Amino acid sequence: MNILVVNAGSSSLKYQLIDTDTNTLYAKGICERIGGEGALIEHKQIVKGLTVKKESPMQNHADAMNLVVAHLTDPEVGCVASMDEIQAIGHRVVHGGAYFSESILLSDEVLEKLKLCRDFAPLHTDAHLMGIKGCLDTMPGKPQVLVFDTAFHQTMIPEAYVYALPYEYYEKYGIRRYGAHGTSHRYVSGEMAKLLGKPVEETKIVTCHIGNGSSISAVKGGKVMDTSMGFTPLAGVEMGTRCGDIDPAIVPYLMEAENLTPAQVNDVMNKKSGFLGVSGFSSDSRDLQSAIADGPSNPNYERALLAVNILKHNIKKYIGSYAALMNGLDAVVFTAGIGENNAELRQMICENMEFFGIEFNQAANVTVPHGTATKISADTSKVAVYVIPTNEELVIAKDTAALVAGK
Ligand code: ADP
Repeated sequence: MNILVVNAGSSSLKYQLIDTDTNTLYAKGICERIGGEGALIEHKQIVKGLTVKKESPMQNHADAMNLVVAHLTDPEVGCVASMDEIQAIGHRVVHGGAYFSESILLSDEVLEKLKLCRDFAPLHTDAHLMGIKGCLDTMPGKPQVLVFDTAFHQTMIPEAYVYALPYEYYEKYGIRRYGAHGTSHRYVSGEMAKLLGKPVEETKIVTCHIGNGSSISAVKGGKVMDTSMGFTPLAGVEMGTRCGDIDPAIVPYLMEAENLTPAQVNDVMNKKSGFLGVSGFSSDSRDLQSAIADGPSNPNYERALLAVNILKHNIKKYIGSYAALMNGLDAVVFTAGIGENNAELRQMICENMEFFGIEFNQAANVTVPHGTATKISADTSKVAVYVIPTNEELVIAKDTAALVAGK
């Protein structure tokens, strides 16, 4: 089945056209600066290896979708003769609150429930609503499916998701752990379970999605037991610009000391912390690694090393605590921008973990081929360690196809 996967942001719209029968990616692209000056589309026809990039005015997400449709059906850079060859649309949705524990076909009732999720992720939810409306306007009648980043984490038990705040805040405001990157954790843990070659119900896996945003999950028997992100994606390990777990008392302290408003302190924790805040010069792990490789002669060396060491320390703690929670550990998986590409960090995390039964294979770790699931632990290692490239779009396309086919 040909599925158009849509990831709508407030001023951008990413898309992929995937055939779920053959797992073929036909086209992908992005519309940027929607509603602003210099709006542009970049469209890639994968099979023919063609890329077009051009400015084109887009007032809203419906304009963007019209442009996407025009490119997908273009005789030269397109891949289908008409939109009739595309059976459905699958949307990536960042937050489904506690309303959605699995992917779902769009209906009026679903749309109303999605609007309630604005309380948790207002900017993202508004963007998704615009993306859905854009699709309804340009392709009326085409089935649409919503796939939620939070859904996979809905299997957590109350002690994992209820915070030890007065219970009434959970009841009144829905303040609890929701987690994020669920589609990625679901995909890589599923692939890992297949590689382990034993029934999913018996598997104990820690998945490390490490990118600009990072989260770690404990997946036992195919279900999430716990995950590092919380009420928002600010919690957990250190990230590109987010601080991750800190003593919550720091927030009021900083507000008083620096005379900050709630919005300002939120900005510090989300946009000025993490790699950027600690290193003082970059949120990108490549810049930090290159400063570290230069050695102490580089003025950024010490703080770059500290920033990376903090992440290593955080992730080790999560792996250890999740192994304790699951009463065992079969595998650790690394994925996303840093997890898939940063061999140094993977080594730093997996070193000195013999206690857990991790025997690292350094030679395999430094030669991981791009885009391929690769084992980076020794054959004798009690715990398997893998790099598994994530593919959230494929999961969205497959869920969409299954729901449309009525499965
Ligand atoms: P996002 O959370 O925005 O999706 P990504 O998963 O793309 O982010 O991760 C971005 C991070 O991955 C950056 O810190 C970047 O340095 C790192 N990264 C991406 N590609 C590579 C690469 N080829 N080599 C090393 N690091 C990479």
